[in-house]
Amino acid sequence: MRIILALDQGTTSSRAMAFDERGQVVALAQREFAQHFPRPGWVEHDADDIWDTQLAVARECVQKLSLARSGQAQGAHQIVAIGIANQRETTVLWERATGRPVARAIVWQDRRTTARCEQLRSAGKAALIQRKTGLMLDAYFSATKLEWLLDQVPGARARAEAGELAFGTIDSWLIFKLTQGRVHATDPGNAARTLLMNIHTLDWDDELLALFHIPRAVLPRIVPSSGMLGEAAPQWLGAAIPIAGVAGDQQAATFGQACFAPGMAKNTYGTGCFMLMNTGTQAVASRNRLLTTVGWQGPAPGDARRTAYCLEGSVFMAGATVQWLRDGLQMIRTAPDIEALAASVPDTGDVYLVPAFAGLGAPDWDGRARGALVGLTRGTTRAHIARAALEAIALQSADLFGAMVRDAGMQLTELRVDGGASSNDLLMQMQADLLGVPVVRPQVTETTALGVAYLAGLATGVWCGGAEIAAQWAVDRRFEPRLAEPARRARVARWREAVERSRGWAKK
Ligand code: ADP
Repeated sequence: MRIILALDQGTTSSRAMAFDERGQVVALAQREFAQHFPRPGWVEHDADDIWDTQLAVARECVQKLSLARSGQAQGAHQIVAIGIANQRETTVLWERATGRPVARAIVWQDRRTTARCEQLRSAGKAALIQRKTGLMLDAYFSATKLEWLLDQVPGARARAEAGELAFGTIDSWLIFKLTQGRVHATDPGNAARTLLMNIHTLDWDDELLALFHIPRAVLPRIVPSSGMLGEAAPQWLGAAIPIAGVAGDQQAATFGQACFAPGMAKNTYGTGCFMLMNTGTQAVASRNRLLTTVGWQGPAPGDARRTAYCLEGSVFMAGATVQWLRDGLQMIRTAPDIEALAASVPDTGDVYLVPAFAGLGAPDWDGRARGALVGLTRGTTRAHIARAALEAIALQSADLFGAMVRDAGMQLTELRVDGGASSNDLLMQMQADLLGVPVVRPQVTETTALGVAYLAGLATGVWCGGAEIAAQWAVDRRFEPRLAEPARRARVARWREAVERSRGWAKK
């Protein structure tokens, strides 16, 4: 049986997962690593910690494979390819000669370059940036983080210009380490999150590089997300193994959900929600302040060179709302307890919870909005509030879904789901009811790792095309909408009234 090793480098932990040809998980290992918060709003990772934990879990996985084969040291030889999925936007700068980082990595959550983004916005650069990158001018993305490192680390700018330093998101960093510095590369999906790549040409853009003062000499080569892009040195896992798939975590999950055709979408229910919709070879510009991004480059069913674009939107407070009920209000003991509590009442009694704890994201974008609980009566109980919290997750996702449908001008026929909170059946039923389309939960919900395993397996002949993978993707449960259309519309309209009441609350 041929095995593919997926490395899933996340924000709080590094994971490795081995998949067999049927797309089933056969070994898994995970390690957390330190988060550094040197100042308010700053978030850093030690890139060496990331490499060390990632290598350790990969080795653990290989060991587990060997044990499964009666102790023979065969684990590594069964592995035909490595795929890499990674936390996106996080910025690493290192020395080419030694592979040593010159500073801690600046994590996607880090807000230190907010003022720089505001400066560029006042200079009228936001429209140009949106047109070329599909993104909003925000500290979240890599460009201003890299600019900050080049300016603040002593000597970095001169060394970068002399070609001594390399920049990369986490995918590039891991590829560089795995290949012992032989390959410095990234895929178009990861590059699309830097603010430096033109998503229409799929190349680094000189005008953007000039705007952010980034020398070309630091940049990785952009290579397809699926293809032979290097070989992990034999000393790491006991054999030389091709690296054949790369994708940022959300893009990987979209691929792992087999959303290969335009109009297919997935939503991941974790701390927040991430919804991505495949728009095919079209980069659809959003009128609702969603992001336009590259999903992956080749293989697409029928054409290995094709690029798939996506619309992307996120909900800030999804599972985090459940955490607030658990920790802030102590209304439930564990997150899954919310389901029974919410199911103990037939409806919310017209109560709405707007979880704008950190402002509202797409499509409302109001940084001054704050959380609101409206419609309370003497009859309201904790069960109604718990139910309203679950509905809020589904309603925010429905808002994103609506924005995507309007932007793309496509009808979506279903929504594929994954992430920790997707195990909540009541939430998934609410989601189907509030979307008016079926919600489908797959058997394998490790879609991020599975997605890069698929990308790597397609490049190495384990699978022959999207059709074969799509056939393998199996449904755990399908939730059909049960709410009549007028009732659905009324509920969404009522939610919009509640959202209006949460807006502009914070005065500074
Ligand atoms: P992340 O990757 O963002 O850490 P996970 O995919 O692990 O998130 O999901 C964890 C989140 O999902 C937590 O915020 C938790 O509150 C929420 N969650 C987990 N199980 C349930 C459940 N059964 N019902 C509702 N929310 C849940």
